[in-house]
This record gives sequence, C-alpha cells and structure tokens, in this order.
Amino acid sequence: YLVEPIGAVFQAVSNVQQGSGALRRITEVLELEGESETGRVPGTAVAPAGRPLLQFRDVWFGYQPHRPVLRGATFDVPRRGHVALVGLSGAGKSTVFALTERFYDPDRGHVLFDGQDVREVQRHAHRARIGLVEQHCPVLHGTLRENLMYAAPDADESELRRALELAQLTELVAQLPRGLDTDAGEQGIALSGGERQRIAIARALLARPQLLLLDEPTAHLDAVNEAALRHSIRETAKECALFVIAHRVSTVREADVIVVLDGGRVVATGRHGELLAESARYRALSPG
Ligand code: ADP
Ligand code: MG
Repeated sequence: YLVEPIGAVFQAVSNVQQGSGALRRITEVLELEGESETGRVPGTAVAPAGRPLLQFRDVWFGYQPHRPVLRGATFDVPRRGHVALVGLSGAGKSTVFALTERFYDPDRGHVLFDGQDVREVQRHAHRARIGLVEQHCPVLHGTLRENLMYAAPDADESELRRALELAQLTELVAQLPRGLDTDAGEQGIALSGGERQRIAIARALLARPQLLLLDEPTAHLDAVNEAALRHSIRETAKECALFVIAHRVSTVREADVIVVLDGGRVVATGRHGELLAESARYRALSPG
C-alpha cells in the first residue's frame, strides 16, 4: 500500500516538471476565456460559474475485483471554499484523492471536473489544474526559493509573496537572515513538519491550481503551526477550491461543507453544527 502513493507522487512531480510551462499557458487561456465570457454579457449570470468544480457521481471503485472501496460515492466540491473529507482510517479518503487526480478510473460512475468527465481530458492537462499537498512533506534540499519555484519557474516576486502570505510563511521568511535564499535542507534551518507542509502549500499555490487537495497531518501540531494551518486554509479557500482530508477539529468546524465517508459511502454532508445534530456517524467521529 505504501509503494503506490509514493510512486504516484514521483509521477506527479515529473509531470509538473515536464509540463509546467504548458500548464501555465493552459491556465492563462482558461482565465482569458472566462474574462471574455463575462465581458460579452455584462451583468448576466454565467451558468458555468454556478457549476461545482469537482463532482463525484455514483463512483464505484476497488483496487481488486469484487472488493469495492468506494461504493456509489456522490458529492460536489464548489469552485471556492473549503470542503472537508472525514472518515475513519480505511474509509476511502485517500482513494477519493487518487481518483480525483486520475491515478485510477472508477469501475462505475463518473468523476467530473468543470462538468467534464476526467477520462476525456489528457492526464497531464487534468493534473495541471490540481495541486496536491501530502500529509508528510519531505525534508527539503536547496534554498527555500528553489523549493517554492520548481513547480512554477516563471513565477515573479509578487506571485511568490502572495503564495507565502496565503501559506502563512511571511513572518517565518522575514526572520531568516538570508530570507528566501536560506538553505532549507538539513544543513540549513530546521523546519518542523507543520512548516514543511506550509511550504508545500505555497509551492502548490504558485502553480495556480483550480483545486488544491490537502491531506492534513494527523500528528500533533504546536499551537503556532495549528493556527497557521487554519488561517492558510481559510485564505486559500478564497482563491481556489480546497478539498481537505481533515483530521483536525478546527479545520472541520470551519469547513463550508463536510463530506462524511464510511465504508466507501457518503453517509452525510453538511456543516459541523448540522452534522452534529443529524448524523450519529459524524458524532462518533467528532471529538469536539
Ligand atoms: P483512508 O485514506 O480513508 O484511510 P484509503 O483510501 O487509503 O482509506 O483505503 C481504503 C481501502 O482501500 C482500505 O481498505 C485500504 O486497505 C485499501 N487500499 C488503499 N490503497 C490500496 C492499494 N493501493 N491497493 C490495494 N488496496 C488499497
Ligand atoms: Mg488516507
């Protein structure tokens, strides 16, 4: 089970490295089209804007035949805001991410991105629209700037500053004697797991994803890192769709929508307060 996700990460990194120029152009084209659309019909509600960015429609999937892991999962992730995916270990949360990125295809049902079945889109073009921040972010090599820029080598200083701001890293960088040119590797500053994850968030944001997938750390975060992660999630959700495998009560409480996964089925969706009142399965999961 470990080999597969690690392979997937290397695949994703090499895709990003090969395709970042093309991806950037694709995003630019999409943005331009969006602008001309609204420009032509001022004041008119544009239908696609109301359409969710990501839709799972009755998705069935198993790694082995006759052993479904997802059993008819159906849910939406809107274009903005923060959707939390919660469930016990083994419920299928990581599998939902793997299908979202199209590391696998459903056995039945559909994964739609922007209304289009992701099977109809080239894999690299599809993944270019998505940023992935994993639970455990590796120790870094090289300077902070190099670590941030490799997925978006053309990013300018203002984009870099914006990504740092969203990831709540501005203060940390300001305290470093050499700023972004500080060695972030083992010879340089010692970064905590929480800091490394925020660097991964900033890096992912620099590539301007439409959807950011974030697998929250299960490990304990100190109060400063916990607050920084929470703020980062709140700010990022204003810029793109944020889909979080949530392990922290604070993240779940603030989510715009919570999707509760149990045995590969979506057993409830709603906000924290609603689910506390309505879903015994959610109450069983929720420590607060
Ligand atoms: P979660 O992230 O909610 O803990 P996963 O999506 O990782 O759940 O796993 C759901 C089920 O699928 C588990 O029973 C797990 O053992 C199985 N599984 C996950 N990845 C693989 C894989 N690559 N090959 C076979 N089975 C897998
Ligand atoms: Mg998982």
